[in-house]
Amino acid sequence: MPYRNPEIETMDPKDLRQMQSEKLVKLVKYVYDRSPFYKKRFDEFGIKPEDIKSVDDIGKLPFTRKQDLRDTYPTGLFCVPNTEVVRFHASSGTTGKPTVVGYTQNDLDAWAESLARGMTAIGLTEDDIIQVSYGYGLFTGGLGAHYGSEKIGATTLPAGSGNTERQIALMKDLDVTAICCTPSYFSYLIEAAEKMDCGIKNKTKLRVGIFGAEPWSESLRKRIEERSGIKAYDVFGTSELSGPLFIECEMQEGMHVWSDMFLFEILDPETNEPVPDGTVGELVVTTLIKEALPLVRYRVGDLASLNTTVCKCGRTHPRLMRLKGRSDDMVIVRGINVFPGQVEYVLVKFPEVSPHFMIILDRESELDNMTVQVELIDMASDKLDDYYKLKSRIEHELKSILNLHAEVEFVAPETIPRSEGKAKRVTDNRQF
Ligand code: ADP
Ligand code: ZN
Repeated sequence: MPYRNPEIETMDPKDLRQMQSEKLVKLVKYVYDRSPFYKKRFDEFGIKPEDIKSVDDIGKLPFTRKQDLRDTYPTGLFCVPNTEVVRFHASSGTTGKPTVVGYTQNDLDAWAESLARGMTAIGLTEDDIIQVSYGYGLFTGGLGAHYGSEKIGATTLPAGSGNTERQIALMKDLDVTAICCTPSYFSYLIEAAEKMDCGIKNKTKLRVGIFGAEPWSESLRKRIEERSGIKAYDVFGTSELSGPLFIECEMQEGMHVWSDMFLFEILDPETNEPVPDGTVGELVVTTLIKEALPLVRYRVGDLASLNTTVCKCGRTHPRLMRLKGRSDDMVIVRGINVFPGQVEYVLVKFPEVSPHFMIILDRESELDNMTVQVELIDMASDKLDDYYKLKSRIEHELKSILNLHAEVEFVAPETIPRSEGKAKRVTDNRQF
């Protein structure tokens, strides 16, 4: 398959490393000069920009964490004035306080370029019609895929999320050839299309799917490919790094992460030392060219491994292998990040219930369902009506914090298991 930027994508690994070193030296000086946060952090750490001479010095730099984004909410980590910020996105945080990310025009161009390289690598061109069924809005999925698709000159169908029957009808009527959405939503689309007698395999022109924003497995890939007749590719990103960024090439053996834009490390979570190629560890990423919100050694919170050997496709950039889970207690439900702490934050506002709860995740028709078992303090009320009102008030509040419907189920006082160590807040019955 053709390269979008052959010189960069197949560059000799030694030259790539040299390029990364030069960019890292610049980045460190950039954040030190422009961000009081980084200056303070580096000073506390006893590190000066001139101490960083190449990527070999990366281990000398302090980490950045999601908590730093929360502590400096909303834009305390930004390195450019407001006049240069052309876009915001935001995601919700554990305490209900969102984190805000921002972009300069160059940042938006680089983000789209990263996805455009991946789309080109799987054979998408201006001849394709790409349906973007990620949510549009503050979530980065929709607009990210949208601009990637425009960058390669494809025709974009900004379907957004929901309204499944209409999505299927448009896919068929407009001869859509590729779709971007979560793997679970696509699984649901397959079933819904069959029910409408509009099977994706035989009645549409769909041939490629770019699926991500949540964990999925090789077995789900196989099932999707068999049932829909398309090729299914993994895509990874997070809002802090821009949004969806890295897609697998046609080999389907890991997602190429672009070394001219990002420096990836995989570290042992205990020792913070790099692990050997292919070993699972914590993902730490340094952005090499971001302007508005550059991140130095950002601990993404995902467990993953890298393959740095040259790929059969000829690309020399490392591959991020399928993600192995999270290092924190976040779960992903319908593509949305949920921290148990967010549920707790809601429940403590209601004196009628205890702060002990259990999140139960199930999958029905390939879609995630979330139930929160909530302990009543007092079962004495004889008015059923009170319970219904309370249930809907809590559900409403959960929805506004999580951006997701969660069903509240009341249980009797002291029935949720207590634990002495870290509370177990999630029962995940989903099969990936
Ligand atoms: P996005 O807007 O791209 O979903 P978020 O910051 O809301 O970004 O969520 C990013 C998180 O979603 C990642 O840190 C990771 O845990 C999860 N994620 C995204 N893509 C994948 C993927 N392909 N496989 C597994 N997990 C993924
Ligand atoms: Zn490849």
